[in-house]
Amino acid sequence: MSSKTNLMDLTRGELGEYFLNLGEKEYRATQIIKWMHQRGVSDISKMTDLSKELRERLSHECEIRAPEVIYERDSKDGTRKWVVSVGEGDLIEMVLIPEGKRATLCVSSQVGCAIDCSFCATGKQGFSRNLSLAEIIGQLWIAENSFGDSRAKGERNITNVVMMGMGEPLHNFDPVVKAMELMLDNNAYGLSKRRVTLSTSGLVPQIDKLSKLSDVSLTISLHAPNDKLRDELVPVNKKYPIKTLLKSVTNYVDQCNDSRVTTFEYILIDRVNDSLELAAELADLLKDFPCKINLIPFNSFSDSAYKRPSGNRVKRFQEFLQSKGHVVTIRSTRGDDIMAACGQLVGKVNDKTRRKERKKKKELIKTKSI
Ligand code: SAH
Ligand code: SF4
Repeated sequence: MSSKTNLMDLTRGELGEYFLNLGEKEYRATQIIKWMHQRGVSDISKMTDLSKELRERLSHECEIRAPEVIYERDSKDGTRKWVVSVGEGDLIEMVLIPEGKRATLCVSSQVGCAIDCSFCATGKQGFSRNLSLAEIIGQLWIAENSFGDSRAKGERNITNVVMMGMGEPLHNFDPVVKAMELMLDNNAYGLSKRRVTLSTSGLVPQIDKLSKLSDVSLTISLHAPNDKLRDELVPVNKKYPIKTLLKSVTNYVDQCNDSRVTTFEYILIDRVNDSLELAAELADLLKDFPCKINLIPFNSFSDSAYKRPSGNRVKRFQEFLQSKGHVVTIRSTRGDDIMAACGQLVGKVNDKTRRKERKKKKELIKTKSI
């Protein structure tokens, strides 16, 4: 473990304090943020608007370190998945989904997840630990810098970020909020608040707290229109039932003050929550809510007894909701040939694959003579 301060683990405010403590001007923080996050530079000696003396001091005391990529793979449909090591055998996954002019990065917030939804591979894996700021923002850093030398030219490649990878982001509140602050910072990634989405299983106190700090887009993983079924699918519902959750979301939207539409995710599981009776209940539950409903046909993984409904059942569920005046989309399944689709992220690769990828990486480094 390095004893150096990882500058990627600091927000702009924290970096400002760091420089003040060094007897330097606070604006050095903005200079470093620009080098690190806007241009993807991790070598402090290359930061030419800092004095040589300061660069030497910083190189001695600090480092800029994103987590280590140990596996990278492209799907047939253009989706790219990375498996990233965050130390001590813990692995996380991130996925980039290109779609026309959009490139959406799906970011993880925890190793595993403690919520334990009955349909989710990440939940079934259990919870290991929270990710640090460097490990969260480092995912965006890695993805942004995977487009050749585009960053040197000041280009931004990722247009959207969704906190929908492994973990419950609101269970790792502070680092997630800090990471989103950097995502929105014009000196860093410059994404608009509507292009940064936090998806949550519905932790009410944390949604209330977030409403005072941030106005990013909020997506609620609803999955059932009544408490009896939701208790079964999303166990945290027993603590924060649907009515309480919807009240908290209304409060969040009101604080945003910009006529916002909330997205509700509804995973469709064959014969579990895909009947027309439940569609009618859902239509009624959300009838006065300015929202969009996103249906996600269940993605299978080993050990799961659930099944994906037929295309017909998915369609009839959608059409029923539409007939009641709702805006309803069906999420297309991307990247499931490389296990990169929703709910398939478990952050594991077997040892053989890992050895092979390490060897490949070493060879690549040799040929590029970096
Ligand atoms: N913990 C947060 C964010 C990560 S989960 C949350 O639950 O919102 C991201 C999305 O993937 C959620 O909408 C979740 O319901 C969905 N998901 C999980 N398992 C899935 C599966 N097996 N098939 C399809 N979608 C799944
Ligand atoms: Fe956790 Fe989200 Fe998976 Fe539920 S769906 S177990 S909250 S990652």
